[in-house]
Amino acid sequence: MRKYVIMGVQGSGKGTQSKLLADDLDLVHISVGDIFRWHVKNHTKLGAQVRRVVAAGELVGDDLVEDVVRDRLQLHDWNYGFVIDGFPRNRRQAEFFLESYDIDGVIHLDLPDEEVRRRVLARRLCSRCGMDYNLIAHRPEDEGRCDVCGGELVSREDDSPDALARRLRDYHNKIDPVIELFRRKEYVMAVDARADKYTVQQTIRDRFNLPPFDPSPRADRVYESRA
Ligand code: AMP
Repeated sequence: MRKYVIMGVQGSGKGTQSKLLADDLDLVHISVGDIFRWHVKNHTKLGAQVRRVVAAGELVGDDLVEDVVRDRLQLHDWNYGFVIDGFPRNRRQAEFFLESYDIDGVIHLDLPDEEVRRRVLARRLCSRCGMDYNLIAHRPEDEGRCDVCGGELVSREDDSPDALARRLRDYHNKIDPVIELFRRKEYVMAVDARADKYTVQQTIRDRFNLPPFDPSPRADRVYESRA
């Protein structure tokens, strides 16, 4: 069983790195931000409660977040473990987490604020199918249109320069003490997140003594090993 927390400012590649790790090692990727976005999109009661806060790039209240994390982990669909992304975001959430669950490590994706701004302001989302784009790393073929469904590409509501500046300030105020708390328990491995995504993934594997990263799709590898 492998249980990891992945931390890093928005745009540091938490989602990408979590998915690469989770898909390969059969871990469940739990993104608290995705859970909230799902509720907003599907107009649930929780979605109505958090919609404005999420759109403004502010943090949802701790009680609500802890309930969401507890409910999600209680599904126990994580036989081989999980990578939790976007949580904990402050000291109280970290203390709640440490009291309730034992973890194997904290992956801290380290990215300078300047690079965060460059990456986040280039993010786009298809308004129809939800596909992610990035005008630096993953450009659509037709500017402003989704390659998959032709839908219009838009910025996420919480990716405006103002919301981002607020988030960065908030992030440092709240996250630095969390990293310090985890560091005291010797859980934290800092990884330079400026490198390309495969290099970052390999560095994570090296730090935690995990099997080396193979960028070929998993189905291909199964096929090759059978051949
Ligand atoms: P993310 O995709 O991780 O940036 O999350 C998107 C939004 O969801 C954040 O801007 C917050 O409004 C909310 N959110 C996600 N995780 C947390 C958390 N641990 N605590 C409070 N709010 C959160």
